[in-house]
Amino acid sequence: MLASEVDSSKVRLRATSDLVAAVKEIHPNPLYANYSADRLSGRVAGKTIGQDDGTVDVVVDVSCVHRDSDPILAEQLFFHEAMHVVIKQRGESLEIDDVRTIAQELGLALDIVGMASIAAEEARVEKEVRARFPDQPGPYRNGLEELGKEFRRGAEVAWNKYQDDDNVEDFYASVTSSFQVLVTASGYAAADFSATNVEVADVSFDPVVEQVAFGSNWSKLLALLMKESPAKTPTDITKLNTQVGHAAETVFDWLKDVGFSVVPKGDGVEIRVLNPLVWMINAFPSE
Ligand SMILES: [Zn+2]
Repeated sequence: MLASEVDSSKVRLRATSDLVAAVKEIHPNPLYANYSADRLSGRVAGKTIGQDDGTVDVVVDVSCVHRDSDPILAEQLFFHEAMHVVIKQRGESLEIDDVRTIAQELGLALDIVGMASIAAEEARVEKEVRARFPDQPGPYRNGLEELGKEFRRGAEVAWNKYQDDDNVEDFYASVTSSFQVLVTASGYAAADFSATNVEVADVSFDPVVEQVAFGSNWSKLLALLMKESPAKTPTDITKLNTQVGHAAETVFDWLKDVGFSVVPKGDGVEIRVLNPLVWMINAFPSE
């Protein structure tokens, strides 16, 4: 690992050609149930997983260690994962129990708090990456609008499928997984905006995309994520939990802004499509 802050005796590294399968095998954590490789970053994918015994597994896509791969991208990937290790080894990474506690306290669905905690950690990690690789383009800066469109398209496909099969679990999983990509990307974007002194107020999207995928609570979330401390800065866990709670409430509001209410119900969740008629009439034109 590249960072001197890492205790590498407690880190296992695995390179794999099937990242998603490896992550699920190493840690069958419900937070990773919807985990899919980060296909939109333009970088090779990796994942860092903390274990209960204090050890950490780092899994990377094998293509990053191939002799033909870009060494700068590989270095960025390993540095990024090393920053996750730094956070986890200081005990500042929210685990499933923390996420559950926050969700119960705020009356939010577990998935919503999970999304917020992942985005917050990505913002912390990526702030260090941007500081170390200032000349490399930050991920997502120009990709957010496209991700917004993809979320909208994914939700439409899920909605149409639901009309045929009536499978609400599938519908829920499709909507939340495409939304999660957008939330995680917002964590990267927050770090990028901080590093380049971009104000959230100055960020604008195509008006249609703005309306169907972003909205005012997205701006609020970005502002919250931009305030996260960089990964190397030790941060009080209570403070981190409070920040994730605020971010989670904003993620919930954002998802409502774009048409879906997701609330806990019994042991599960309830998803409601808000104004489905309006939603379908305004269907995003396919390209
Ligand atoms: Zn990451």
